[in-house]
Order: sequence, then C-alpha cells, then structure tokens
Amino acid sequence: MSPPAPVSWPAVSTTGSAPTVADVVAVLDGRYPPAWAEEWDRVGLVLGEPATGVRRVACVVDVVPETVEEALAAGADMIVAHHPLLLRGVSSVAATTYKGRIVHRLIKADVALYVAHTNADVADPGVSDALAARFGLTGLRPLHRPRPGSPADGPGRGIGRIGELPAPMTLAELTRHAAAVLPVTAWGVRAAGDPGRMVRTLAVSGGSGDSFLAEASAAGVDAFLTADLRHHPTGEHLAAGGPALLDAAHWATERPWLDDLAAHLRAALGVETVVSDLDTDPWTVHAAAPRPDDKEPRP
Ligand SMILES: [Zn+2]
Repeated sequence: MSPPAPVSWPAVSTTGSAPTVADVVAVLDGRYPPAWAEEWDRVGLVLGEPATGVRRVACVVDVVPETVEEALAAGADMIVAHHPLLLRGVSSVAATTYKGRIVHRLIKADVALYVAHTNADVADPGVSDALAARFGLTGLRPLHRPRPGSPADGPGRGIGRIGELPAPMTLAELTRHAAAVLPVTAWGVRAAGDPGRMVRTLAVSGGSGDSFLAEASAAGVDAFLTADLRHHPTGEHLAAGGPALLDAAHWATERPWLDDLAAHLRAALGVETVVSDLDTDPWTVHAAAPRPDDKEPRP
C-alpha cells in the first residue's frame, strides 16, 4: 500500500527531504500534547538526535530487547512506544543494566525513541478508540473525563470509551467474541459476572483499568472490558451490582492503537511504518482446568 500524500500538519519543516526526528516529534506532540499526560507519567522524546532523518518508524507497545531488535531488523530510524522505558528516575543507564542496555543499543544504532502514553490514552482519537473499533462500538463517549480546566480537558477527550455493540450478546458470547477480535495472546479473555447477562452497552479501556470500575458502574454500562483486574476489587464491584467485567491481556488492549498511530504518521509525514505484532504480554501459558466430563484435559 503506497502511503497517502502528506497532509498539512503543523511544524513539518522538511521540503522534499526525509523528515527528521524533530519533525516526527512535532507531529506526535501535536496529536498527543505532552501536557495531556498524567502528572506521574513521562512522555515525549526519550533519546535521539533531533536532526537525524527518519524514513521508517516502528510502532510498539513496549520497549523491550525483543521489540528493539525487531525494529532494528526492520530498518527503523525511530521507535514510537506506548509505555515509557524510563518511568521512574534513574541515576545510571550503564550497559550492565537491563534498561541501560536498551538505551545503549538504540543510541549506538542511531535510532530515536519517543513515548506517547497517558496523553495518547486521553486523546480523541486515542488508544481506546482503536480498542472500541475492534468491537464496532458506536456512539462513543469517554469513560473517564479529564478534570475540568486541566490541560487534557476538551470535547471527546478522556480515558476509555463507552459505546453500543452492533448487536446485543450474552456475556459468554461477548467474551468469546473479544478473544476473536483482539490480538491473540496466551492470556486470552476472562469474564466476571453472569455468563447469560445481556450486553448492549460496553465500556472499554486500554491497559490497567481497575481505577475506573466506579465510573463504569455510574455510567450504567452492561459490561466493561479492560486489563489487569484483581480478585477483591472485581468481586466487590460485582457484589455491589456493577457491570460485568472482561479482563483481557494488557498488550492486546493497546496493540490496536498502533495501527492508528502508524496511519497518522504515514499521512502526516510520508514516512514508512512498521507495526510490532510481537506479543509483549508477560503471560505466556494459559491452561483451562479440565471439565469433569472430559476424558482428556482440553488444550
Ligand atoms: Zn498500558
């Protein structure tokens, strides 16, 4: 597929030559302003020379040795990641450390790294729009709106999305459907609540969403799909009459956004893009307990 002609977008300074790291940063900062990130978050350019040319950008959820090697093998000049490589303060990036090794690998290869995290979650379109699209949700609205007057506050913006399914289905059907439409992981999808419960209105939030359980309840949705749900909050939420919960793999809920990110970079800058399908979810094995009537354990 040939990239679409570059559209007008602020701060693209190149004429005819390849865009630079600074140009990519300007486009990304325009769509995902760093001021929209949560206070604890660390986003923006992590490393890389602003004047270096960028022909190809690799889009990944996690910056780990495997995705870095994949990006380098693909000839990428820059990596755009969802999760910060360096979220907490560090006093060393020595190559003898796990993250320092990654920093060295990237700098030696002259590959830049940029992070868009909670500023991409809150954007419209953002991370959860791509997740909602996998379910064909319509009438989208934010699940968690930014504090009024905060930098991220604006029409359509917020973390998570609420929308209507194209057709109602039971929780059991929706769980199987979610496993089919989301990127494949060993974790798959599990659900909490009455399997026969009908679901019409669905909330989705890419990544760890258990801080939004109360908002999903208040919104009156039938079910809420997110990642990293835990025993006690889930049980107490259901006991209080809250919506059914679906717990997908963290990576699988954020991977859909990479396609939207890559499409935007191609349109705005004319760069080539590669999207990583390397499953970086830490869970690698899943076994369902055998049913009493099974002769053999199910695969
Ligand atoms: Zn995440």
